[in-house]
Amino acid sequence: MAEETKKIAIVGAGLSGLTTAYYLAKAGIEVQVFEKDKHIGGVIRTMHKNGFTYECGPNTGVLSGPEAVELFESLNGLCELEVADSNAKFRWIWKGHQWQPLPSGLISAVTTPLFSWYDKFRILGEPFRKPGTNPDENLASLVKRRLGKSFLDYAVDPFILGIYSGDPEYLIPKYALPKLYNLEQNYGSFIKGSIKKKKEPKDERMQKATREIFSVKGGLSKLIDALVHEIGSERIHTGCENLQVKQDGDQYAIVIGSNVADGFTHVVNTAGSYALNTLFPFVNTDELNVIDRLKYARVAQVSIGFKQWKGIDLKAFGGLVPSKENKDILGVLFLSSFLKDRAPKEGALLSIFLGGMRKSHLVDLSDDEIIDIIRNSVKEMMKIDQFNPDLLEIHRYEHAIPQYGIDSKDKLEAIASIEKQYPGLFLAGNIRDGIGMADRIKQGRLVAEEIIKQNS
Ligand SMILES: Cc1cc2nc3c(=O)[nH]c(=O)nc-3n(C[C@H](O)[C@H](O)[C@H](O)COP(=O)(O)OP(=O)(O)OC[C@H]3O[C@@H](n4cnc5c(N)ncnc54)[C@H](O)[C@@H]3O)c2cc1C
Repeated sequence: MAEETKKIAIVGAGLSGLTTAYYLAKAGIEVQVFEKDKHIGGVIRTMHKNGFTYECGPNTGVLSGPEAVELFESLNGLCELEVADSNAKFRWIWKGHQWQPLPSGLISAVTTPLFSWYDKFRILGEPFRKPGTNPDENLASLVKRRLGKSFLDYAVDPFILGIYSGDPEYLIPKYALPKLYNLEQNYGSFIKGSIKKKKEPKDERMQKATREIFSVKGGLSKLIDALVHEIGSERIHTGCENLQVKQDGDQYAIVIGSNVADGFTHVVNTAGSYALNTLFPFVNTDELNVIDRLKYARVAQVSIGFKQWKGIDLKAFGGLVPSKENKDILGVLFLSSFLKDRAPKEGALLSIFLGGMRKSHLVDLSDDEIIDIIRNSVKEMMKIDQFNPDLLEIHRYEHAIPQYGIDSKDKLEAIASIEKQYPGLFLAGNIRDGIGMADRIKQGRLVAEEIIKQNS
C-alpha cells in the first residue's frame, strides 16, 4: 500500500492517540483523530492558578526507554523535556507515625526500620532461591517468596500504590511488571539480574533510558500542545460523542450520528476497554467482553498549594503510605521540590492520591469529606499547624489506571484474535503494553511504525 493510499482514523486524543498520529503525520500519512471530549490530551491537563502550575492527572513519568527522549528531540523547540532535580532520588515511606527514607544503599538497607531483621538476613539468600515456575503467580506471592513479607509490606506494596494505585495480590508481574518478572526468569534472581544488567553495555540509544523522573517545562500540556501543532489541529475532531466504527468493504468508516467519514484503511483505538463494545459493533462481543473484564483503579487526585510553606522540609520525590498503615491517602508527591516553577518561591505544591483498588470507595466521598481527609493527613504527615492552602483542587478518575491481573493472557489473546480478523484495526492504548506515559509514547510510535511499514 503506497503512503498516499493509507488513511488512518485514531480514536482518542490522549497521549497514546496523539503520539501515534504525530509519527504517522510526520511520515506523510493522512490521519484523522476523533475524540469524545472537548478537551485534547486525555487525562493530561495542566492548570495555572494563584502562582501554581499543577496537573489534574498524571504529574511525572519515568524515562524507562529511549522513545520519550526521542519524542522530545523530534519536537525540538516546541516543548522542552524537564528532568527532575536530584531531590527526586529520595523516596519516603510512612511507618508508625513518621516518614522513613526508602533505603538507597547497603548501609541504609541494613539500618532501616522498614524491614524486619529476619528479612534483612533472608535477602542474602535471594540469589540462591529457585526461580518461580508459575507465570500467573501474583506479585505479592512472588515478592514474599523471594524477599520476604516485610519487603512486600514496606517496599513493594507502596511502590505499587504509587504506580498502579493497585493491589499486589491482584497484579500479575509477567504483565504488570515484566522487567521485574524477567529478572527472575532470565537471571534466576532479582539481585543477580540487577547487577548483571547494570554491567551490560548500553548503546547510545539505550543510554537515553536513564529511569529518571520527567515532566515538561511549564507542565505536561505543553507536550500535548506541541503534538497538536505538528499533527495539525484541523485533523483533530473533538466532541465526537457516540462514535461508532463501521466496516466498509476492506476499509472502515467513522460514524458520528448522521456524519460519516469513510475510506480509512486503518483504525487505531486508544479508548479504554469499557468503550469497545459501543465503538466496534461488528466485532464478536464474546471477545470484546474478555477485554472488557479489565479492571481499572479509581483515583481522586488532590492538588494543594501553599504560598508560604511552614511544614517539614520536602526534599524528596514524595512519600508513599503502605496499605498496612491503614491510612486514607495512598501517597503524596512534593512536586515543587523537584520540578521548576510549580509554586511561588517560598511555597510548596503537593499532589495527594486517594482511592485505588483497595480504597476505591473514597473516590465517592463529597469534596468536603475529601478535604477533611487531606487536612488531617497534611497536618499529621507534613507537620503544619494551620491548614489554609492557597490552592486546592480535586479531580476524580473512574478509569484511572488499568490493572494487569490474572485475565491478562486472555485479554491479549482476544486483542490478537480481533486484530487478525480485521486487518488494519489496532486495539491499542493502555489496555496493553504498559500504563505509564513513557509506555504510551513507545506504543504510539511502534503502532505508527507498524502501519508505515505495512506493504509500503
Ligand atoms: C490520576 C492519574 C495519575 C497518573 N499518574 C501517572 C504518573 O505519575 N506517571 C505516569 O507515567 N503515568 C501516570 N498516569 C497514567 C498516564 O497518564 C496514562 O497512561 C496516559 O496518559 C494515558 O494516555 P492514553 O492516551 O492511553 O489514555 P487517555 O489519556 O485516557 O486518553 C484516551 C482518550 O480516549 C477518549 N475516548 C474514550 N472513549 C472514547 C470514545 N468512545 N470515542 C472517542 N474518544 C474516546 C478519552 O476521552 C480520552 O481523551 C496517571 C493517570 C491518571 C488518571
